[in-house]
Amino acid sequence: MNIENNIRKITENLPEGCRLVAVSKTQSPEKIQMAYAAGQRIFGENKVQELLQKRPALPDEIEWHMIGHLQRNKVKHIAEFVNLIHSVDSGRLLEEIDRQGARVPRVIPCLLQIHIAEEETKFGFDAVEVRDLLLSERVAEMKNVEVRGLMGMATYTEDEEKIRMEFRNLRKIFEDLKTLALPGNVRLTELSMGMSNDYRIAIEEGSTLIRVGSAIFGERN
Ligand SMILES: *Cc1c(COP(=O)(O)O)cnc(C)c1O
Repeated sequence: MNIENNIRKITENLPEGCRLVAVSKTQSPEKIQMAYAAGQRIFGENKVQELLQKRPALPDEIEWHMIGHLQRNKVKHIAEFVNLIHSVDSGRLLEEIDRQGARVPRVIPCLLQIHIAEEETKFGFDAVEVRDLLLSERVAEMKNVEVRGLMGMATYTEDEEKIRMEFRNLRKIFEDLKTLALPGNVRLTELSMGMSNDYRIAIEEGSTLIRVGSAIFGERN
């Protein structure tokens, strides 16, 4: 596994406006440092404890993204530094992020996770729920979060047409939301979709943030 080559191969074909999030969950600080040395600056983690353990050993220039399911009682640990939370899957979680943002104080960028896959287990809103939330007074009053867009995960399958349709559905939800009269703290510019097995399809369907782990670092244990 040559981390540097893998990053170069993925980033040299990225269209303008699409960025790579290197998913470093389970990877050692040494491997993250290798990716950093290859020029990678955005890293994604899915566990708060793991992120807190690794971060002190790594360069301050790294932009840390939270991509995994986030419990409300853990938000306080990352509020000071997290650059983007991709996985906001409830109004109550968004409220807690706003509360912790006010304490720090800063405005915390967030994406709302949409359930687009067939699997029951994946977290997230549906199209109606996300619209209702974004048009609610509750969100309009939040001063310490900015909703930057949506995140979704396609079904884990070999069926590329199915994956493409799920990403296309997410893109449609995103475009439809943009036509609404949204509050000032909702600026929909980011569409986080695509992982190692499907990022090429996600790019074709309009992704602005691909989240790639094993295609960079190799298979996880
Ligand atoms: C692990 C993970 C990824 C990366 O998965 P790979 O298949 O290793 O690229 C992307 N997004 C989320 C939310 C993840 O948990």
